[in-house]
Amino acid sequence: MDPKERDTAASPSRPTGRREASAASGGSREGAPTGFTPGGGGAGDSPSGKVSGKRILVVGLGKSGIAAARLLMREGARVVLNDRRTDVEGLEPLVALGAEAQLGHHDEALFTSVDAVVLSPGVPPLPAVDAADAAGVPVWSEIELGALFLRGCTVVGITGTNGKSTVTSLLGAMAAKTGRPTFVGGNLGIPFVDVVGTDAAGPEGFVVVELSSFQLERVETFRAHVALLLNVTEDHLDRYDGMAAYAAAKGRIFHGQRKEDHAIVPAGDELCASLARAGAAKLHRYAGFVSGEESPKPEVFVDGDALCDTKSGLRFPIAELKIRGGHNLANAASAMLAARLAGIGQDAIVETLRTFGGLPHRMFFVRERGGVRFYDDSKATNVGATVAALEGFATDPGFTGKVVLLAGGKDKGGSYAPMVESLRRVGREVVTLGEAAPLIEAALGDVPFQRASDFDDAVTRAAQIARPGDAVVLAPACSSFDMFRSYAERGERFQRAVLALPEVG
Ligand code: ADP
Repeated sequence: MDPKERDTAASPSRPTGRREASAASGGSREGAPTGFTPGGGGAGDSPSGKVSGKRILVVGLGKSGIAAARLLMREGARVVLNDRRTDVEGLEPLVALGAEAQLGHHDEALFTSVDAVVLSPGVPPLPAVDAADAAGVPVWSEIELGALFLRGCTVVGITGTNGKSTVTSLLGAMAAKTGRPTFVGGNLGIPFVDVVGTDAAGPEGFVVVELSSFQLERVETFRAHVALLLNVTEDHLDRYDGMAAYAAAKGRIFHGQRKEDHAIVPAGDELCASLARAGAAKLHRYAGFVSGEESPKPEVFVDGDALCDTKSGLRFPIAELKIRGGHNLANAASAMLAARLAGIGQDAIVETLRTFGGLPHRMFFVRERGGVRFYDDSKATNVGATVAALEGFATDPGFTGKVVLLAGGKDKGGSYAPMVESLRRVGREVVTLGEAAPLIEAALGDVPFQRASDFDDAVTRAAQIARPGDAVVLAPACSSFDMFRSYAERGERFQRAVLALPEVG
């Protein structure tokens, strides 16, 4: 299962464990243009001291959990491995080195008797974690653990409901182009703890980390020198006790920041700005298209035919961007701003914007058939992403057709109403599928729809409905778990079904 879309959640409740002193070390680096003192991610004076000789429980033994356990063992902790599953891969080498494995259940007595608990992002809310909190046992996310061992690198953290992976990849590529050692990972790709011990964690390094709300719930001293909150729209409400709790988890990205750090939010988004203001960092704003009404004005935005950084003077022609859609202009603007604030030079920024072609399953063009273009946006696992996909067509002057939308999957507890307005403007018909089909249909009002009997039927119906000039778009607004193991598997199935459609005469 893809780590970005598995049924993940640590406890939404605030951590109540003992708070560690935040005393990041690291001297100022000559010429650092950003104003902050690179100081790791918030480590205490002796990170090893926090774990060496301590009995530490690692809960959730997926990729991140195993990586966390390996780090803890290297640092001399007495590691206990715990998972509800008993068929966990990759344990033998750790057990051979002395780790203790307690599998099959989450025993409260175990959680309250250790010196600290490390939670993988895949761990759902657990009574045993609440018990650890109540007993004052520190509970860390794998991000917090990794942050203890950073050694003076520049940390750029990215969160938001949508766009995290795109912006993380853009910024990672920009950082790497500087020639400095760079780590890109976290919620995307490589577990964050794997940065520990690499050159990227050192004073010359860049650490670009994508952070999910689940990972952020359990950060305490993690410090992003540059933190981006891209947006907060309804998602994961099957896991959170309402939007306020979800937004608060996202806002934790600003928690460990200091006044010399930078907090970046979209212009005109008061929720994101208020979350950033709760931290100590300087606030910066960006936008894609602007109305001119924004106050305060964004530092980076679309000015005529270019993305423009008003502080550095950099203008990047929109026509040269490979990623399309208004949301991607905003993503590119956020990356331009964050890169400048992190001290990344203009050559690296420009070169990346020119070459970055986007990520798989995000508005991926699959095929044109009889004048109809098919797009795989399987990663649109919430309504905000589906709206972005529809708006991309609605605002594209080169698109004169309509969109046939494939929507449905596993419901996440939010409202489907926000997509209706976009559908009225640019939608031809919706093909609903999966468990959420009745919920979506109930929200559609006068927007026409048909329900598919299965996934292939959805593709066949969409192809029949579409007329030349139209686009068929898989942007399901739901997770994939009712039918697939991940959004990627769903997208691949879509692409196969589309490619298998016979040519039209
Ligand atoms: P994340 O890592 O946050 O899930 P991705 O970059 O993988 O973000 O994109 C997820 C989905 O959201 C895709 O369908 C993509 O087209 C859409 N998307 C990307 N950026 C934005 C944005 N800024 N606002 C709304 N939707 C977006």
